[in-house]
Amino acid sequence: MEKGKLVVVSGFSGAGKGTTMKALVAKYNDYALSVSATSRKPRPGEEDGREYFFKTKEEFEAMIQAGELVEYAQYVGNYYGTPKAYVEEQLAMGRNVLLEIEIQGALKIKGKFPDAVLIFITTKDAATLIQRLTDRGTEDAATIRKRMARAAEEAEGVEAYDYIVVNDVLDDCVETIDKIIKTGHNNSYGNISIIENIKEGLKSFTEGEL
Ligand code: 5GP
Repeated sequence: MEKGKLVVVSGFSGAGKGTTMKALVAKYNDYALSVSATSRKPRPGEEDGREYFFKTKEEFEAMIQAGELVEYAQYVGNYYGTPKAYVEEQLAMGRNVLLEIEIQGALKIKGKFPDAVLIFITTKDAATLIQRLTDRGTEDAATIRKRMARAAEEAEGVEAYDYIVVNDVLDDCVETIDKIIKTGHNNSYGNISIIENIKEGLKSFTEGEL
C-alpha cells in the first residue's frame, strides 16, 4: 500500500485550523488527525484524548526523554508535542496524517520528513482574526494579546510553508486543502500579501492602537 502524506497545518490562532481539520476528516476517509500531547490546562469543553492528551510538565518531559514524540515545542509557556506511534501507524495504513502544530514544530517536521506538505491557514484580514478570537471567549484579554503578539511573530516564518490558504468560506477552504494534498495543485498565489497586511494589523492591535 502507498504510504500516506504527512501534512502540517499551521496558522494564526483563531484562523479556524481546528474546524477545517475536523471538516476534512469528516468528509474524506483517507485523513487522520493526530492528537497532540500538551502541558497546558484543558479549556472548558475539552476532553483528554480528544483535543489533546493533557499531561503535567513532568509527564511531558518523561515523554521527551523516552523518545515518544516526533517533535515538540514550547508555546506561550507550555509544551506541545506530536506522539510518534499514531503518526507512524496511520501513515503505514495509507492515511494522510494532519498535524495541527505551530511553526517551530512545522520546521522540525520539514527537516525530518522533507516530503511533508506545509500549509498555513489565514483569515482574509487582521480584524476577522481578532474578532474570532474574542468571540471564542475561552481566553482572557491578556492571553488574547499574548497570542496575537505570538501570531504576528509566527507570520515571520510563513515563507517556509508550501501553501497559504485563506479560510473565508469553510467548505472552500476544505476543498482547497484536499486538492493541495492530493494533486499538489496550488491556487494560493498572491496570498503572501494578505499575511503582510495581517502582520501590520496585529502589530497595531498588540501595541494597543486598535
Ligand atoms: P492551543 O493552546 O491554542 O490549543 O495551541 C497553541 C499552539 O500550539 C497552536 O498553534 C497549535 O497549533 C500548537 N500545537 C498544538 N499541538 C502541537 C504539537 O504537537 N506540536 C507543536 N509544535 N505545536 C502544537
